[in-house]
Parts: sequence; C-alpha cells; structure tokens
Amino acid sequence: MTTASPSASVSIAGTAQSVLLGNYGTRDLCLVRGEGAYVWDSEGRRYLDLLSGLGVNNLGHCHPSVTAAIKKQAETLLHVSNLYLIEPQVELALLLTSHSPCGKAFFCNSGAEAVEAAIKTARRFAREKRGPGHHKIVTLNNSFHGRTMGALTATGQTKYHQGFEPLLDGFDYVAINDAEALRAAVDDATAAVLIEPVQGEGGVHPCSAEFVREARRLCDERGALLIFDEVQCGLGRSGHLFASEEFGVEPDLIALAKSLAGGVPMGALLLKDEPASVMTPGSHASTFGGNPLAAAAGVAAIRTIVEENLPARAKRLGEALRERLSELQSRHACIEEVRGRGLMIGVQMTFAVADLLKDLRGRGVLAGSAGPSVLRLLPPLIVKENALFDVVPLLDELLAGRA
Ligand SMILES: *Cc1c(COP(=O)(O)O)cnc(C)c1O
Repeated sequence: MTTASPSASVSIAGTAQSVLLGNYGTRDLCLVRGEGAYVWDSEGRRYLDLLSGLGVNNLGHCHPSVTAAIKKQAETLLHVSNLYLIEPQVELALLLTSHSPCGKAFFCNSGAEAVEAAIKTARRFAREKRGPGHHKIVTLNNSFHGRTMGALTATGQTKYHQGFEPLLDGFDYVAINDAEALRAAVDDATAAVLIEPVQGEGGVHPCSAEFVREARRLCDERGALLIFDEVQCGLGRSGHLFASEEFGVEPDLIALAKSLAGGVPMGALLLKDEPASVMTPGSHASTFGGNPLAAAAGVAAIRTIVEENLPARAKRLGEALRERLSELQSRHACIEEVRGRGLMIGVQMTFAVADLLKDLRGRGVLAGSAGPSVLRLLPPLIVKENALFDVVPLLDELLAGRA
C-alpha cells in the first residue's frame, strides 16, 4: 500500500472540513466507484467492503438489476406525490407483504422514519383500542433506533441522548435477554415493546428465542404491539429474509430501511392488518415515501434477494466465517467473543479497534466498529466466498503480538 500523495482526496478533505457539519468527524478516504463487494478510492486503490455502506449494500455496489431499474425509472418518472397511485410502490408492497407476516406497508425514507411511524402507530392503536394512559414504549439497553427525537428516545444509549433532552415521555429500557426485567417493565401502561432481533450499533447482540417469545406473550397479555426494528438485521442479512423467522414469532410491526432499495434511500413500516386499521387517511404521511425511483429500486433489490436466495447464502457464509473466527479466538487472547447471525458479525476484542480498522484499511479491507471494542462485519450478501474468508488470515496476522 503506497501512502497518499497530495491529491484530489487531500484537497477535498480540506474543503469538506470547512463546509460540512462536523458530526461525522474527520474523514480522509474518498470513495469514488463501486462494483460488487469492492470500492475504489480517488487514488485508484481497491478495497473489499466488509461494511456494505453500513448495512445498505447487501447486494454489493451497483448491482446490475438495481442499476437497470434506476436507469429505466429515471427515464420514465422520478417523482409524483402520494396523492396518486404509484405502480412500483404497489409492487414493492406486494413483494414485502407476501414474504412477511404483515399485510400492509407504509413507505418512508430512512430507518428513523420507519421507527417513528411504528411509535405513532403503537400509540394510536393503544389509544383507540384501550383508551388514554397506555402509551408506554419498552425498548432495550444498547439499542439503536435512529436519530430523530422519537427514535432517539427509543435508543437505549445515553451517549446519543446527551444535550438533546428533554426526550419524549413514556419510554422504559430493559436489558437484552433479561425476561424477568421485561416482565417487570411491561404493564398496563405499555403500548408496545420495540426490539432489534439482532442489535447492530449496540455491539452485535442477538436476542434469544426465549426472550423474543416472552416479549410476544407479554404484549398479547396486555394488548400491546410487538415491534421489530429490522432496519439493519432484516432483508437477508441475519440469514432470513425477516429476522423474525428465526424465532417462530410474528411481530405486529416491522421497521425496514438500509438495504431495502439497494442503495437508494428508503424505509418502510410493515403492519399487521389490525394495527394498520388505526392509521386512517391523514394520520401520517411522507412526501418522498415510496416515490417511483426509490420503489423501483426496492422492487429490483427485493426480487434479487428472494430469487437468488441470498438469506440462505448469508446464513451459510456467516456460520462458516464465525466458525473460522472462533478458531482464531482460540489462538488470540485479545478476541473475547465472536457473535452474530448470518452476515451480521461482531468480534468482541479486549482493546479499542480503531487502530485495527486502520490496519485493515491499509491492507485493502473496509470494516467497522460497534462500540469501541467490537469489530463489526456486515459484508455484502453477494461477496465471493474466498474474498470473505481471506479476512481470517489477515486478522490472524494483524492480531499477532497483541496478546
Ligand atoms: C441504522 C438504523 C436505524 C436508523 O436508520 P437511519 O436510516 O439512519 O435513520 C434504525 N434502527 C436500526 C436497527 C439501525 O441499524
């Protein structure tokens, strides 16, 4: 790997620092092209993308079916409002509902918006079916649900709350996989329990089947809704098209986004018919939600995921990779735990992984973190097996001498 020469990426970094909000910190790598599991920087260097644009590029970069759908739609109709019927929006809703336990779909533009729509549905459902006083939402510690005020309040991590208080009223947090704490928190005031079947940003922690089943039972007992935030773990990444399939539990609402439209910004809330019935005309809306461009990309993305059976591939590759990483763990004391489902993998280290991420990047591999000491891998579901497994000997080499 050569060191960066004074170049386009250096000058763009300076300009970025002067004109862009500093909320993403300092960035010095400028990616300009992508194909399959690879991206190229402005110096022409190639990287294997094991983070998939933070769980977005499940189909890799510029997947031919998504690119073709976008091109075709861009030449036909980019945007009309939801005052009118939109063909690809209906088609996408049909695809998603026919493969999920939910019968209705609402489209928006991001994960946070999908979570907001879920919170609003849960509160309105509780109000209409049970009267006032049942508005509490129970979520999990270390969860991540987005950055808007409702989704932020649902996010059980104080580091994301700091300085933005007061948060929304009526949220309670319990530890993941602590059924007893959940039983204590869910009461007559509860409108919904909101969980990520596999927590992403919070460190890649899967929910246990017993915990999810207990959540379902408690919600049924109170007439509350069970909401799955599958924004990161859904649509094949966890090894199932919907992460809920693993538990044999049907949620009432499912929030989706990230990989939904193959790289085009899009979110969705899938709803069972009963909660859907309270969202009457005028109750909620989104100007761009499900617009022709995003919906056409979504149809192409979901069709490809289903037709190529990518969830099963994610399951198989993920299990094989975790097995190899566990073998690595037996030789490196700095690896504490290997966790995950499908191609959503967290490697808990004994040290902060920032330098390791830099070393990986220097060797042509982009990976991420989930908290300071968890190496997070979210490879595209189409990644070539050999390219993926090559990360194991590379980690072996980079971790040598660490303990
Ligand atoms: C990323 C993420 C969100 C927020 O999605 P945005 O599109 O960034 O608003 C919500 N929930 C989960 C589980 C996520 O991983």
